[in-house]
Amino acid sequence: MIAAMMSKMRPASPLNELGTAFGLTGAALLFLQFLSSGRYETLSGRIGIDRTMGFHRVAAYFLLGFVLLHPLSYSATSFLSNPRAALNHLTGMLLSERLRTGVVAMAGLIVMVALATFRSRPFMRYEYWRVSHGMFAIAVTALALDHLFVVGNYSAEQPLRLLWFFFATVALVAIGLVYIVRPWRMWREDWRVERVRPLGERIWEMMLHGPETTRLRFRAGQFIWMTLAPHRPPFHDHPFSIASSPTDLPRLRLVIREAGDCTSGFGQIEPGTRVAVDGPHGSFVLPKGKEPVIMVAGGVGIAPLLGMLEEAAANADARSFRLLYAARSPSALAGLERLRELQSRLDLSIQCVVEEDVEGSGCSVGPIGHMHVSRSLRGTQSKDVTCLVCGPAVMMEIVTDALLAQGVLADTIHYERFDYAAGKGHIDRARRREALLIFIVLLLGIVAFSLR
Ligand SMILES: Cc1cc2nc3c(=O)[nH]c(=O)nc-3n(C[C@H](O)[C@H](O)[C@H](O)COP(=O)(O)OP(=O)(O)OC[C@H]3O[C@@H](n4cnc5c(N)ncnc54)[C@H](O)[C@@H]3O)c2cc1C
Repeated sequence: MIAAMMSKMRPASPLNELGTAFGLTGAALLFLQFLSSGRYETLSGRIGIDRTMGFHRVAAYFLLGFVLLHPLSYSATSFLSNPRAALNHLTGMLLSERLRTGVVAMAGLIVMVALATFRSRPFMRYEYWRVSHGMFAIAVTALALDHLFVVGNYSAEQPLRLLWFFFATVALVAIGLVYIVRPWRMWREDWRVERVRPLGERIWEMMLHGPETTRLRFRAGQFIWMTLAPHRPPFHDHPFSIASSPTDLPRLRLVIREAGDCTSGFGQIEPGTRVAVDGPHGSFVLPKGKEPVIMVAGGVGIAPLLGMLEEAAANADARSFRLLYAARSPSALAGLERLRELQSRLDLSIQCVVEEDVEGSGCSVGPIGHMHVSRSLRGTQSKDVTCLVCGPAVMMEIVTDALLAQGVLADTIHYERFDYAAGKGHIDRARRREALLIFIVLLLGIVAFSLR
């Protein structure tokens, strides 16, 4: 909008300007969505993959709202006085040849947002959805760009023309990085599966071995995007946390739960199978300083925490670690043996919680709740602890809310989700409000632009 105001155009009526502002802001958001897709470490590594994906999701709904309001605002003048004329005007716009690329882009965007909202099996395989999401994004952006240049009055002026050129270049570079440069880099290093062994009920430990000269440098707790042969990047990669210490390189350990099409075949993977490794990603790492460190894992959520404990042991970290580890049954407590070994090298206490107790397991009976969390915090100053939480969505909400209720500060609670769904915990909601604030400011800007 600032770029539009820098042009020599004289403002039209407020409702027309409102329609234009919705369209321009929607287009700018569309370009920026490429950067918040969670694939760019510069952004998601800094603010976290959860925050990045949360923003991407909220932005998608606002973007769609702005795009739908764009044609509606142009017809709004007569909606109250003459609804039929307004409807005719709107239909005329939607059928107009001149506006065709814009209308198709809008329809594509509706389909894209609907698929992203309702994507879940058996409706659609995740891989198919991902490919279609990327293709739709590229097509919708190209059509929107055409629409901007064909009918946009402001876009015909120098400042906006330059801005769109800049945005389009950024989007092109982003697409090139994700679909060409990164897959090529992933395949260049010769990574292989060294071994796969069962670690618990439908949980596998997969050891990868890379070249001695590998360029991979990571902090324990970060994750990689992995593609297993016969597939090749970029469309078949899945994210997995690194469950080993950087000092173990060129070996990487992954702890993987069978979840669906890709992971359910992991037990049959032959040693020597080629893998493509892209990483590191994410910012879920062990913060320096504060202790005790309270770790809470649910099921395979142990993977990044195990990596952090391995790193702490390798660095002779003298802090006190308290691990609260929950799973369905004792046999689903993957990696417990290794955690017990680490106890001899770290000040590490382990509290296990299972839903189906087996006599003699030494575990408390769950589900995990406030009582278990408060036991982990016993004898500590809640304001001084560092907390790291990873596990199923509902468990993380219960745990993070319980930590807050016990006086732990929100900014010392770090967590990572293994899905990109919107969480319902207090911290999730606070983060959503932060994102919403950005869009409220944008909305105020749109109104100010139309009333100028
Ligand atoms: C940051 C991060 C770290 C993760 N670390 C681990 C780990 O250490 N161990 C582990 O067992 N699991 C981990 N996961 C989850 C793991 O990526 C999914 O379980 C796996 O991709 C499922 O694939 P599938 O084809 O077997 O199952 P599907 O049935 O295809 O998918 C099940 C669900 O997994 C998610 N998913 C599937 N494919 C992808 C993908 N390519 N990208 C993102 N999400 C996907 C979707 O929410 C989907 O609904 C992590 C996920 C994320 C986001």
